[in-house]
Amino acid sequence: MLAARVAILLTATGISVRAQVSTKWPQHSTERPQPPVVTPGPFAATAPPSDAIVLFDGRSLTNWTSADHVGQPAKWKVADGYVEVVAGTGGIESKQGFGDVQLHIEWRAPTPPNGESQERGNSGVFLMGRYEVQVLDSYHNITYADGQAAAIYGQFPPLVNASRPPGEWQTYDVVFHRPRFDASGAAVKPARMTVLHNGVLVQDDVELSGPTAHQSRPPYAKHADALPIVLQDHGDPVRFRSIWVRKLE
Ligand code: MG
Repeated sequence: MLAARVAILLTATGISVRAQVSTKWPQHSTERPQPPVVTPGPFAATAPPSDAIVLFDGRSLTNWTSADHVGQPAKWKVADGYVEVVAGTGGIESKQGFGDVQLHIEWRAPTPPNGESQERGNSGVFLMGRYEVQVLDSYHNITYADGQAAAIYGQFPPLVNASRPPGEWQTYDVVFHRPRFDASGAAVKPARMTVLHNGVLVQDDVELSGPTAHQSRPPYAKHADALPIVLQDHGDPVRFRSIWVRKLE
């Protein structure tokens, strides 16, 4: 009854209700249905537009630093237009911080594939170092739905599985809005994300419950308005290229 009244009120005021984290399934539930598989169209490069900040152009990591030892050089391998995770060196992060952004990033899972579930081609793109879009080889590789490729890790499975086979380049195009905090530090607006995987909509303006985490959903904690983008070292030699952002603030 109350829910119905709220719905009527929201409709009357024109406020839309965005997707929120499901309480129907426990986090990382293997019972949760797998998103349907969609075969994306052929790869098409998206060159950065004139107002983009290019974070990685295939040649150097000058715009990046070690995430574990900020200020020290990023230790991943750069070759032939890509950067590859070097296991054990830790994540890398952009020297510049960002809040609301449009982000384009291309990635490639190792071939031949090695490992199963979360141990196959795992990495991650963390907006503001806190909000992860999962990178995983999810081509013929079953894992929990909220942990597969293009999941908002531990919160939202992708709407569909638009993965390409390992060894093929894939794209993420992300629209991210940072959370807003009031003077007391309370989150008055949650972070929101829209994600296209290989040109296919997989996250439709979802509201994050807080930072992404493994086996927990921590609440928001007040942070700066601009923070680095972090790429994860999960031990697999995942490659990245063509990383650019447009500031939306
Ligand atoms: Mg990951």
